[in-house]
Amino acid sequence: MTKQRVVILGSTGSIGRSTLEVIAALPEQFEVAGLAAGINWQLLAEQARQFRPEAVSLVADQPGRSLCDVLPAGCGLFTGTDSAAELVRKVQADIVVNAIVGVAGLKATLEAVRRAKRVAIANKEPLVVAGPLILAEAARHGTEITPIDSEHSALFQAMLGGSKDEILKVYLTASGGPFRQWTRERMDQATVEQALAHPTWQMGRKITVDSATMMNKALEIVEACRLFGLRTEQVLVLVHPESVIHSIVQFRDGSFLAQLSSPDMRVPISYALTYPKRLAGPAKILDVYALRQLNFEPPDIERFPAIELGYEVVRTGGTSGAVVNASNEVAVDAFLNGQIPFGKIVPTVRQVLQRHMIGSADSLASLLEADNWARRQTAALLGVCCRAGRAV
Ligand code: MG
Repeated sequence: MTKQRVVILGSTGSIGRSTLEVIAALPEQFEVAGLAAGINWQLLAEQARQFRPEAVSLVADQPGRSLCDVLPAGCGLFTGTDSAAELVRKVQADIVVNAIVGVAGLKATLEAVRRAKRVAIANKEPLVVAGPLILAEAARHGTEITPIDSEHSALFQAMLGGSKDEILKVYLTASGGPFRQWTRERMDQATVEQALAHPTWQMGRKITVDSATMMNKALEIVEACRLFGLRTEQVLVLVHPESVIHSIVQFRDGSFLAQLSSPDMRVPISYALTYPKRLAGPAKILDVYALRQLNFEPPDIERFPAIELGYEVVRTGGTSGAVVNASNEVAVDAFLNGQIPFGKIVPTVRQVLQRHMIGSADSLASLLEADNWARRQTAALLGVCCRAGRAV
């Protein structure tokens, strides 16, 4: 059997590292064809020495020189803002795993859906910011999209149990994050350390803060509606603190199908790579006898108003996803830098969305313009410096 060639965008991040662990456990099935990173050139070099890709890319320009000296012989190198997209253009791949945090990987995602047989999407931005554009390109080129986000992977799997018109609703489960039982007043003043102390998942910093505000769930509502063609009233949020059930599909005959596993991203990563097959990967296996009880509760919209923004983005469409995503990125950044209190993140995003004149989302240029506008507005509202020139 020929090995599937995999390109990983965002290889030095949490999902990228887990993807490499899955590939290392399945050496007969997969080989690494390319790795794209942002700034962590030391780890990128280490990964290149271990997995021997055809080429790597690094957004940061300067360290490219140091990287050159430590890459294995024959390994190509692209650097600069467009390096991930260039890597996708130059390196032939069967599967592209997109795990670049933020809107930075959008251009590379579009390249990937035009070239690869399958794009496994781990980050939310492609579908939230440019969902219709990406899905249209994927349809045009016959590219399969497999979700890595654990909830969407669960829905993707459970949906195999029936046809689309048999689905009544889906329940996106949410751990509720570290502030599930906190009062709004206490939450408003939460520290960075408290927001990063996620009870069940080990993830990157940005997504962990999104989980604390539940903005993560808002973005996942958008993802689910777009990826599976669902209406907003079909997508519900269900707080489930143990993070064992990753989502549930309700069919019209009264059957509910759920997917369970350890809260270990290597499970959905494996499935996104091996679908429609299932292979033994490196993930921790769930001990069902150790599950004493599973709890469920409705989300508290009063304390977690971010959730409503998700439904609003789906209903409004156009550039609204780009605006909410960009504004949230800037606000979360400001919070992580100690510049604003936790309680300011979501109200700021809402305010920026209210000020926005919704435009059409049919080109990357209009989406990036909305993204830029939202970054500047958010930075101005928060009195922080707008980080210019994010890689797109
Ligand atoms: Mg998720």
